[in-house]
Amino acid sequence: MNDSIKTRNLYRFEEVYFKNTTFSQSLSMNILRKQAFRVWKMFGENKKFPKIIAGRGVFYNGRYLSYSLENNICLARNQRNIITLVHELTHALGFDFHDKKFVTVEFNILEKVFKKNRGELELTAGLFGVER
Ligand SMILES: [Zn+2]
Repeated sequence: MNDSIKTRNLYRFEEVYFKNTTFSQSLSMNILRKQAFRVWKMFGENKKFPKIIAGRGVFYNGRYLSYSLENNICLARNQRNIITLVHELTHALGFDFHDKKFVTVEFNILEKVFKKNRGELELTAGLFGVER
């Protein structure tokens, strides 16, 4: 599976599966940073906690997207939510590509920190063609 297909499938899964849930609800940067800190305590080990800012994001496929670059996370408007935060934190932990390793870490965070049901995540991700 090539990288752009992996990316598209993962974005689709995140968007559809978490639609109209607390994971896609807009939150203040203050709350998001607190949640990021909880994630970092469990997964960040000795890595430096990233700087998390509200910004414009990067223009991609007709819309602005959040990104993680050199330990800076930029959350675009309409993406200041938990699922985007978890995605960008996974990048900040050192996983650059949307491959199996990335998805495993992202799901570990969703399961351990945010108490999502692992089996349901795995099953639904499979239906969206997310590489597992
Ligand atoms: Zn990504």
